[in-house]
Amino acid sequence: MLIKNLTLSENSVYGYSSNCYLLASGSEAAVVDPSVETKLILNALDNAGLRLKYILLTHGHFDHMHTLDELRSATGAEVMVHTDDSETLTNSALSLFTYFGYPETVFQPASVLLSDGDSIKLGDEEITVIHTPGHTPGCVCYVTSSGIITGDTLFDMSVGRYDFPRSNGVKLRESIKRLYENYPAERIYPGHGPSSDMMTQIRKNPFTKGLVKF
Ligand SMILES: [Zn+2]
Ligand SMILES: [Zn+2]
Repeated sequence: MLIKNLTLSENSVYGYSSNCYLLASGSEAAVVDPSVETKLILNALDNAGLRLKYILLTHGHFDHMHTLDELRSATGAEVMVHTDDSETLTNSALSLFTYFGYPETVFQPASVLLSDGDSIKLGDEEITVIHTPGHTPGCVCYVTSSGIITGDTLFDMSVGRYDFPRSNGVKLRESIKRLYENYPAERIYPGHGPSSDMMTQIRKNPFTKGLVKF
């Protein structure tokens, strides 16, 4: 599966530079976390001759979905989010827009609510959903044939914040442990910062020292 990071710092509407990924298989595409200008996403789809089938959210935080409805109305793509973060689309306090001092912003509800183990068909391939609660209750990672989109659960040399009102540090560690144990050889594509690989995190990530032994 093709994985392309569409984020460039100058396109980050709120200055948090969340990564927006374009996934493609055959002529079908999915966008993970629509957080860059819609025009840029539409151009990337046009240039590659791709049809946008899904908009996938790693979780319901403002910096990962602020161009969600624009992209949905421009393409008619289905919006998917985990059940436990579904309310964030219609509640500015839960999505942290208001927590970070931004105006109230709400979206149309998602069309598909995800659960752990769900499989999403894109082109000839499947994307598997893993529920990784902790940073938010409804955080998910998306497992593809080319690596794992880890959202704000796991970053290169860091982990997601767990000091927000709906965060849980114990669950976050359990979720990362599950990633380390089940996907040690995968490449990772985090919600912020550069891509890396799981084994580097297992060996060197200072926030998860001793979590698993390899
Ligand atoms: Zn977040
Ligand atoms: Zn984030």
